[in-house]
Amino acid sequence: MLNKLLSYFSMDMAIDLGTANSLVYVRDRGIVINEPSVVAINNKTGQILAIGEDARKMVGRTPSYITATRPLRNGVISDFEVTEQMLKYFIEKGGKKRFALANFPRVIVGIPCGVTEVERKAVRDATKNAGARTVFLIEQPVAASIGARLPIQEAGGNFIVDIGGGTTEVAVISLGGIVSSKSLRVAGDKLNEDIIQFAQREYKLLIGERTAEFIKISIGSAVPLKEKKEIPMRGRNLVTGLPEEVIVLNEDIKRALEKSVKQIIAAIKTTIEETPPELLADVMSSGIHLAGGGSLLKGLDILITKETKIPCKIIEDPLTAVVRGAGMALEDIDALAEVMSKEEEEEPIK
Ligand code: ADP
Ligand code: MG
Repeated sequence: MLNKLLSYFSMDMAIDLGTANSLVYVRDRGIVINEPSVVAINNKTGQILAIGEDARKMVGRTPSYITATRPLRNGVISDFEVTEQMLKYFIEKGGKKRFALANFPRVIVGIPCGVTEVERKAVRDATKNAGARTVFLIEQPVAASIGARLPIQEAGGNFIVDIGGGTTEVAVISLGGIVSSKSLRVAGDKLNEDIIQFAQREYKLLIGERTAEFIKISIGSAVPLKEKKEIPMRGRNLVTGLPEEVIVLNEDIKRALEKSVKQIIAAIKTTIEETPPELLADVMSSGIHLAGGGSLLKGLDILITKETKIPCKIIEDPLTAVVRGAGMALEDIDALAEVMSKEEEEEPIK
């Protein structure tokens, strides 16, 4: 009863706890937070100095006693305490300007499908400690599919590939549940790393992660591009120790990314092989759906189509699909109860 009353006054909130970006969606208000999953910490005191966008600005620029970390970097929670602080910040920031009772939101959190039971519990506990009244967990590929309005409740097969920062999640979903899935730690971050390695190997140039990401987004591709593109790449020459600028070509970047792109495609192919034939027949007509920021790498959809012989398309607004889908799931929580894990039944407030 009290719970009912609280849910009337309080709000529902969906969080996409991404390895690169975290988003918060609040019922009736839409997406209220979209910030990098970065936390800056003072190593000497352990104190958190900044979270989100403010912390990201510090990456690679901090004095030695400050570290700007990404607690979910590889899709696993490497630091529970920091993750909890980050969640708390998002919940508080997302929930401001509401009545006092809104301090007890029902929160649904999208988590990678590769996480262990211990990590699930950690997210649930962290979300509760951060002020949530009730916590639901939803697997990110399921949420992304709901966000893309795929008919996942039906008996057909839906194939979704979510390429984020730390992980690529490949999943086949039918009747609201995951039939088969694969999670690999090759995604946007690895592509940045490939460009850093390339600069070092080819030019003895040390470049930062943000420079690498900028180059990837500007001229990177999975297939050869029709028009040639080039971009200046700035860093420090490892031999002379001095700053240097070289011009890189899109075809060189394509080559640098090739190996990782192949790994992503191999994971998609393996998942296709493991998909029951009936569902595969559905997938052949409904296609492969791409979500996540990493799916925006130029020509990736074209290459996947070519390699798998299944039409592949990027869903609308691929970076926000998880949080929108999780928000929709929460709004329809009773109807979608079966996609939520069982142990997250509503608990009465003591
Ligand atoms: P996560 O869900 O893990 O937080 P996101 O879905 O937010 O990840 O995607 C972040 C990744 O997408 C980053 O690695 C970023 O570099 C990459 N990304 C964003 N836009 C583009 C683009 N236009 N081309 C290639 N990669 C992109
Ligand atoms: Mg994501």
